[in-house]
Amino acid sequence: MAQDMRTVLQESRVEQAVMDRYAAEAAKIVGENNISANQADLLSACRDYWPANSIWMREGVFPALPQLVAWPKTTAQVSKLLALANQEKIPVTPYGEGSGALGGVVPLRGGVTIDLKLMNKIRVLDERNLLVTVESGLNGALYEEELNRAGYTGGHFPQSLRCSSVGGWLACRAAGQFSTRYGKIEDMAVSLEAVLPDGTVFSGRKVPRTATGPRVDHLLLGSEGTLGIITSATLRIWPLPEKRHLASYTFEKLESGLEAIRLFMRAGTRPAVVRLYDGQETGNHFPELGDKRCALILLIEGNARLVDAEAEVIDDCVRSEGAESAGAEHVEHWLEKRFNIGVASMLFQKGAVLDTIEVTTNWHNAYTTYLAMQDALLGVEGTMLASGHYSHVYPEGAALYMTVVGFPGGDKISYYKKLWQTAMEACHKEGAAFSHHHGVGLHRGLWMTDEHGSGLEVLKKIKDALDPEGIMNPGKLGLEEVQLWQK
Ligand SMILES: Cc1cc2nc3c(=O)[nH]c(=O)nc-3n(C[C@H](O)[C@H](O)[C@H](O)COP(=O)(O)OP(=O)(O)OC[C@H]3O[C@@H](n4cnc5c(N)ncnc54)[C@H](O)[C@@H]3O)c2cc1C
Repeated sequence: MAQDMRTVLQESRVEQAVMDRYAAEAAKIVGENNISANQADLLSACRDYWPANSIWMREGVFPALPQLVAWPKTTAQVSKLLALANQEKIPVTPYGEGSGALGGVVPLRGGVTIDLKLMNKIRVLDERNLLVTVESGLNGALYEEELNRAGYTGGHFPQSLRCSSVGGWLACRAAGQFSTRYGKIEDMAVSLEAVLPDGTVFSGRKVPRTATGPRVDHLLLGSEGTLGIITSATLRIWPLPEKRHLASYTFEKLESGLEAIRLFMRAGTRPAVVRLYDGQETGNHFPELGDKRCALILLIEGNARLVDAEAEVIDDCVRSEGAESAGAEHVEHWLEKRFNIGVASMLFQKGAVLDTIEVTTNWHNAYTTYLAMQDALLGVEGTMLASGHYSHVYPEGAALYMTVVGFPGGDKISYYKKLWQTAMEACHKEGAAFSHHHGVGLHRGLWMTDEHGSGLEVLKKIKDALDPEGIMNPGKLGLEEVQLWQK
């Protein structure tokens, strides 16, 4: 029985009689076949890609288990499921595809996990206005394929494209690999349809912009399931690009690469892909370039004449910083490999602990934050590698993405916690922001006070107003303490 399985973060569970009553009513709402309390279904909904989950599950223990999984097909069904849960004070965990990197779907207090996968339709493709209205449970790769068939792109390519959902992107403020041209998910989101815990359904206007007060639908962006459930969204789309230009360069120093990017962003160019790797990652991803120089990968796309002009401006900027051209083939190689996510599982199997920590810097601290975080991570006993790259660039700065691999001698969870504590301290000291796109989930909640200051109290007030019974994804976003993880 699932409830006899050992869990490490389960804070509480709902009394079984209450859950049975809920399950009976939920079955009337979504149909008998669309709810389950089977062990396999509870187990598959109990985790995401948070490395702590992988560490525990390899040791035969689980983070926490839901008591029921429900698969609604319509917004009306989501509304009824939530209203009922609210009435019975049953915790609700929204679930997209479970690719979150920080424990966001771990059902700390049991209750019902609402899996959105059956809400997977494109409702309207509005070609004239370049908008698509899509249900939140649609898988990322299927979303993009459907748009491609009609001659468009969604422009959003997280590395997890094939294992994440549109709703998960919106709930976590995700960023895709082509973000410098197309924007992050919040730039694409024109309006959201969402359901509040009391069952209220609301949506925003599908117009380019409004000035009729704060956009309440946009409140759900980045809310990670703590305020309500996003059921659909109207997103911007683009015609498939007429031309694509690939280029790569190498720099003797990482700082020169950063300066080159700052210059071409300042000049107004917006290449879709900009990735600058340190020497270690250059050697790992492009062995033929060695690990003595730092590789810059660029992909420019769109209108052919604009692409040519951008390529020329960018070439001038990077050469002014001493870049050497390395051709298009490294970008082709990256394009081929960019959704491969198997390396982490392989390393976990070999006993390693691996994680990635993405933070946001301005230009003035982009390089020093890298040095400080690398130093901090290498300083934790057991760390074998701490490397980094920059991507998702802006006129005002860039995301810094650190990868760390360790083979700790002792308890892996203690090592994992130490890694993050030291990395977050270094990031804070440098004045960088604690996350660029992976979000908070359970784990990053530990540092939300440092990140937000008094802003966290404002967020808590919004949470209390929209979710007075506290049923939505309890313990996430740092909105309340989670003793079992904090200790
Ligand atoms: C290998 C790998 C690569 C990754 N690469 C990227 C990347 O390039 N860019 C990036 O931004 N992220 C990346 N991520 C992180 C992750 O894929 C994103 O956060 C993604 O947006 C999560 O989507 P999901 O559908 O899997 O959400 P889940 O993991 O199912 O859920 C994430 C959170 O959102 C909530 N949620 C899910 N759906 C809804 C909904 N409809 N309404 C309300 N709340 C909801 C959940 O409760 C949870 O708190 C990566 C993760 C992995 C494992």
